[in-house]
Amino acid sequence: MKNKRRTILLAALALPFAARGQQKCIDITPEDIEGPFYKAGAPARASLIDPVSKAEKLVLSGSVSGTDCRPLAGVALDFWHADERGEYDNAGYRYRGLVRTDAQGRYRLETNLPPPYSGRPRHIHVKLLPPGGKVLTTQLYFPGESRGADRALVMKMERRPEERTATYDFVLR
Ligand code: FE
Repeated sequence: MKNKRRTILLAALALPFAARGQQKCIDITPEDIEGPFYKAGAPARASLIDPVSKAEKLVLSGSVSGTDCRPLAGVALDFWHADERGEYDNAGYRYRGLVRTDAQGRYRLETNLPPPYSGRPRHIHVKLLPPGGKVLTTQLYFPGESRGADRALVMKMERRPEERTATYDFVLR
């Protein structure tokens, strides 16, 4: 009897957490402006690291799911961001690359930390292209330097001595 009561108590405690987990997927990732520097045809690659760059290493990872919380596999994430001088490579594909989500809807990108530039907070551009779905164009921002940006687009950051790690979970309509 005591065990049964304990089970009920644990279930009651766990319920709000389960509900909160589900609610996460209701918050669809907002769109943000594309800006003038998108360039189609970026190479598929999990690392944009330039060994010559003195900028810190940034590892960005997370998931892509639908509003039903089911992971979306095979979604292309087309990333682009500014170089250490705050400029975009419009001649080639430096700091431009495409990764795809795996069967669990996970993605991972390594790059050099972009700087803030010309009055804009530090950001990373991305287009998500789900197979057969609608393209989402948006930008990701850094905690504490997201002035003017949608708070829903701020990544979670951890700073380690050797690199910064960021996570962001996308939810597509
Ligand atoms: Fe930009």
